Amino acid sequence: MTGQAIQVVIVGGGIVGLATARALAPALGERLTVLEAEARPAEHQTGNNSGVIHSGLYYRPGSAKATTCASGREELYGFCERHEIPHRRCGKLVVATRQRELAALAELERRGRANGLTGLRRLTAEELSEFEPAAAGIAGLHVAETGIVDYRVVAAKLVERLAARGTRLRTGWRLTGVHRDSAGQRLVTTGGELTCRLLVNCAGLQCDRVTRLCGHRPEVRIVPFRGEYHRLIEAQAQRVRALIYPVPDPELPFLGVHVSRHIDGSVEAGPNAVLALARHGYSWARISPRDMVETLTYPGFWRLASTWWRTGVAETWRSLNRAAMARELSRLMPGLQRRDLLPSGAGVRAQAVTADGRLLDDFLIQEEPGAVHVLNAPSPAATASLAIGRVIAKQVLARLA
Ligand SMILES: Cc1cc2nc3c(=O)[nH]c(=O)nc-3n(C[C@H](O)[C@H](O)[C@H](O)COP(=O)(O)OP(=O)(O)OC[C@H]3O[C@@H](n4cnc5c(N)ncnc54)[C@H](O)[C@@H]3O)c2cc1C
Repeated sequence: MTGQAIQVVIVGGGIVGLATARALAPALGERLTVLEAEARPAEHQTGNNSGVIHSGLYYRPGSAKATTCASGREELYGFCERHEIPHRRCGKLVVATRQRELAALAELERRGRANGLTGLRRLTAEELSEFEPAAAGIAGLHVAETGIVDYRVVAAKLVERLAARGTRLRTGWRLTGVHRDSAGQRLVTTGGELTCRLLVNCAGLQCDRVTRLCGHRPEVRIVPFRGEYHRLIEAQAQRVRALIYPVPDPELPFLGVHVSRHIDGSVEAGPNAVLALARHGYSWARISPRDMVETLTYPGFWRLASTWWRTGVAETWRSLNRAAMARELSRLMPGLQRRDLLPSGAGVRAQAVTADGRLLDDFLIQEEPGAVHVLNAPSPAATASLAIGRVIAKQVLARLA
């Protein structure tokens, strides 16, 4: 690696792109650039998530999610401590409310232990109130390793640290074209042109499109799933100490609507999971015909829909009907009513769907000539970001050697 020409361009100033830049910056410094389409970093998934530092409870032992979540979580706690980023290792409570959830709760405990968690405690119905007096159920699991943070603040600190290494984040630079020639790759963006040897695609909701811009065929298609939040009114918020989660459906990569106290003290319920009508579809009113056509012409979407249509209808009903959402939440927190929920923000998940209609569960990185594409980085990718960044950086540096 010689010369000061840009060697690597990372597309996407979300937490995965920035964490990858952090891992590459010591070797590349100003020969590394991050492009971000929006005016600020972390405007999409990173800035609109639940703000939870996940423990690693849910993931299949040995999967990329499990390994990077475990190491990334502790690295993130360390990063927050070193840089005085407000965070709290508050723990979380998973509550079973139906007999048929007990087997899944036991499986979570088994996975948690296999993934190295030492702060797990199985709880009886009576013991739930030791952690969350407002929660009710038939059994529970307390996980001490879980925490909370604002990922926008983490992203801002990453940007600051990159600048100190000479690595630039160019905001307002949306990648629109890639031309390959003998010198490398010429990238056309809304801010100007630049050349590089290797492109790292961390474009989140647009990652499959960026893959196609590079002339490569993505192994999956992104289908956007919106997660909507409601804020709890103060009288209800006071009843919540930290995080109260349901037992998730083991067949789905979503964790179920939960109640979370954020690092700023507010308490929210959510996120649900409804099909978004645009990749940036933060409400039902945001519709993109182009995005809809892409989703609806993808055979994988129809295979997915044929399996999960009942769940989809129920989620959509709860999205449109706040009383139904309150009823669902009151299983975890009895007494919660429609009037206790105020509409709040939303995030859109970039969920990779395979051609045979599976919601891809694990992280997916696709290597191609001249590019590394991150094609599935859903939750817990914010928690795991610093570890994912190191994995990608290793691949990139091996390619440049
Ligand atoms: C509702 C919700 C709740 C979640 N809760 C949690 C949680 O509590 N804990 C957790 O660990 N994870 C959580 N996640 C997951 C986590 O937020 C994501 O996994 C993570 O933020 C992904 O980061 P990213 O950098 O890949 O994507 P993003 O943050 O979406 O960043 C991608 C960036 O690429 C940019 N971009 C796209 N196209 C281009 C282009 N052509 N040119 C230049 N730039 C481009 C976009 O503008 C964007 O800023 C949640 C996600 C959602 C949606």
